[in-house]
Amino acid sequence: MKFATKAIHVGQEPEPRTGAVTTPIYQTSTYAQDELGKHKGWEYSRTHNPTRDALEECLASLENGKYGLAFSSGLAATNTVMNLLSAGDHVVVGEDVYGGTYRIFEKVFRRYGIEYTYVDSQDVQNAYKAIEKNTKMIWLETPTNPLLRIADIGAHVKLAKEKKIISVVDNTFASPYFQRPLDLGTDIVVHSTTKYMGGHSDVVGGAIITSSTDMYETLKFHQNAVGAVPGPFDAWLVLRGLKTLSLRMQQHEKNALAIAQFLEKHPAIEKVYYPGLASHPQHDLAKKQMHGFGGMVSCVVNGGIESAKQLLHNTKLFALAESLGGVESLIGHPSTMTHASIPQNIREERGIVDGLVRLSAGIEDIDDLLNDLKNALASINTKAMAR
Ligand SMILES: *Cc1c(COP(=O)(O)O)cnc(C)c1O
Repeated sequence: MKFATKAIHVGQEPEPRTGAVTTPIYQTSTYAQDELGKHKGWEYSRTHNPTRDALEECLASLENGKYGLAFSSGLAATNTVMNLLSAGDHVVVGEDVYGGTYRIFEKVFRRYGIEYTYVDSQDVQNAYKAIEKNTKMIWLETPTNPLLRIADIGAHVKLAKEKKIISVVDNTFASPYFQRPLDLGTDIVVHSTTKYMGGHSDVVGGAIITSSTDMYETLKFHQNAVGAVPGPFDAWLVLRGLKTLSLRMQQHEKNALAIAQFLEKHPAIEKVYYPGLASHPQHDLAKKQMHGFGGMVSCVVNGGIESAKQLLHNTKLFALAESLGGVESLIGHPSTMTHASIPQNIREERGIVDGLVRLSAGIEDIDDLLNDLKNALASINTKAMAR
């Protein structure tokens, strides 16, 4: 079965009792048992719920994985992957990970004795150099947030296999429509389903997908033992979002490319980051390991924070908001929003400067989106000329 078909059908057979074509929301915490020790496969909804089962099966199939696990947020999924480790273990992390990922590593798991080293993952040699005797995992995000840098997944997997350590890719930005890390040998894929998978900015959720039975069993144990599971309605919302994932991703990408090309020519813009542009330093690598370039574009506005504010405050369709991947276009300021939890000196060293603006291209009509940006950027030019 191909991707668009799997998104609609896997785990989602018509319900046997009534024939309902849409998976019901099994809004129940518990299940009647036939007799002591004999039940129909469901006992308690932290452990199993039929709506969540459908979602987990569908998520696994979209990533070409054997097993899927759904969580109440992307960070709950991240937390559960960290539960594979023990005090004294060390993780090599691609340096420009999501701010909340950095926060849970540094502020939560470091206190439990897990160590992290951050490396520029544009060159796999940096990961080789960071490996220690106690390194147990490599954690990558690609494309990265917000600079849209690309890590070579295959090269990092090769290193992980050589060193017999676990490889993890946060695939939130690309979605499985554009990138399938398990096909490239990665052990574990993590998602914030809040973003493209849900796709409508109406649910917070997370996922883990793997084909390793051993890792799945440990992760499943922790999903139940820790309990950060999505409720049946949230699971249903993500499942509903998945049905249109392929159509949405195609439009997100078309719009993002047009926006990136427009910004690249605009005099108020100093720099554009989009892996689909030939000017992106890793455009060829992106072409090789991805099936498309996604819907996220970042740019640096000439004139720092004041000009950035003009753009952020003057768009009418792009809402100033956290998050990404919904049908509506959003605009954000990484250094004060998503990445505010990273200390300023580290942030700037990594290129997350005050003039940096991140755009999540929605699926509106592109003419309206470009006009909105044109008008908002015009206010910057006028101001500059007035000075
Ligand atoms: C949003 C996000 C997360 C965290 O997910 P939540 O659903 O907000 O907990 C993790 N990684 C990336 C790349 C994200 O964009």
